[in-house]
Amino acid sequence: MTRRKVATQVKRRSFTKHKTTMISHTTQPMPALFVGHGNPMNAIEETVYAMAWREAAASIPRPKAILCISAHWETEGIFVTAMTHPKTIHDFYGFPDELNQVQYPAPGSPELAGRVRSLVSSTAVRLDDGYSWGLDHGAWSVLRRMYPEADIPVVQLSLDRTQHPRFHYDLGRELQQLRKEGVLIVGSGNIVHNLRLLQWNAAEPYLWAAEFDSQAAELILAGEHDRLVAYPVLGEAARLSIPSNEHYLPLLYILALQQPGEPVSFFAEGLPLGSISMRSVRIG
Ligand code: ZN
Repeated sequence: MTRRKVATQVKRRSFTKHKTTMISHTTQPMPALFVGHGNPMNAIEETVYAMAWREAAASIPRPKAILCISAHWETEGIFVTAMTHPKTIHDFYGFPDELNQVQYPAPGSPELAGRVRSLVSSTAVRLDDGYSWGLDHGAWSVLRRMYPEADIPVVQLSLDRTQHPRFHYDLGRELQQLRKEGVLIVGSGNIVHNLRLLQWNAAEPYLWAAEFDSQAAELILAGEHDRLVAYPVLGEAARLSIPSNEHYLPLLYILALQQPGEPVSFFAEGLPLGSISMRSVRIG
């Protein structure tokens, strides 16, 4: 593949502003979003990414509830948060106190949690109603920008770390009906995510990071989901970009929601810190 110059600026789309006339009579399925979350500081710093996330939310109908699949909740088996008031989890170290003080007091939705459990027939989904989880920074650092009022119920679905990529993609398909019920499904991770090789002062991304980011973009636009699911065969750039797959898997949930003929587009992109891709994907 030819390497192309990687844009570090977010590509701004001129979003059509929709009037939020849906809610109970949704005819069009709600778009689904994969957000490259990157540095947790995006939650409090006014970055191009924070702006792009805000614009993405403003461009879609107001959801009745949000289901978030975050890279930062890995479990054995699958859980869905089912508490009425999920706590804000600060699951990182070494960041300023200001970030540790952030609260995102969105309500939970035991109703949506139960709906997720009933929709998924291929495997058991267990309810986390004992307050063991809540909203991790993969969820709140992004949602704080998208819906700063924190007035839309949020439920998280965990990643079963014992399962293979195809399992996650197929599970995503089972969530399709939620889009017709006004639920916004958000995957939060990063297509390229190599913390071991991260460089805080990187002026340019690694060539392999740019290469895989471009390759993934082309495959997403071409609807080549099978190749994205089978990412280990994509070569060395993929291997370096996905040293562990918890940040990549949320993308597969969102791609799985694309219906035949449905548009796909990118609402943010960029490769900060050398080895992180902020590419964010909208289905619908
Ligand atoms: Zn992360």
